[in-house]
Amino acid sequence: MRAQPRSNIIRTQVTFKSAERALIEEYASLCNLTITRYSGRSMYGQYCLGLDGDSDNDFAKFLVEVANNNVAIARDLANDLTTDNMGLGYIYYFPNIAFTGFTDENDDELGECDDCGDEYVLGSDDHDPETGICNDCTNRKAINV
Ligand SMILES: [Zn+2]
Repeated sequence: MRAQPRSNIIRTQVTFKSAERALIEEYASLCNLTITRYSGRSMYGQYCLGLDGDSDNDFAKFLVEVANNNVAIARDLANDLTTDNMGLGYIYYFPNIAFTGFTDENDDELGECDDCGDEYVLGSDDHDPETGICNDCTNRKAINV
């Protein structure tokens, strides 16, 4: 079999199954990486799987451990790997791997506006805690009354 040049690989959106997510979560945690919802450059605000870490070493160990258990997942990750430097640390992210089903370990608990469906951080002053409606909708209603 001839090796394919990387540019010819057709990328599709990957959504991992729950057992595959569990594997990623287990080894990320063992290798000091934090699962993060991330939107990189040219992603137009779309979120993908991201891993927060302090060193390339940790990420390399993670990839080896994943490959040792499931080489197909490791290949998906390796093919899609993109890196951003975040001040003190690194974010390793995978623009074509959906965040669906993962939990962002840094996430605040989110609520959803009953009117427009926008998400807001519970307990913040972005919304009216009594009505569960975001400030934008509250203001719009006040104008229309
Ligand atoms: Zn709203």
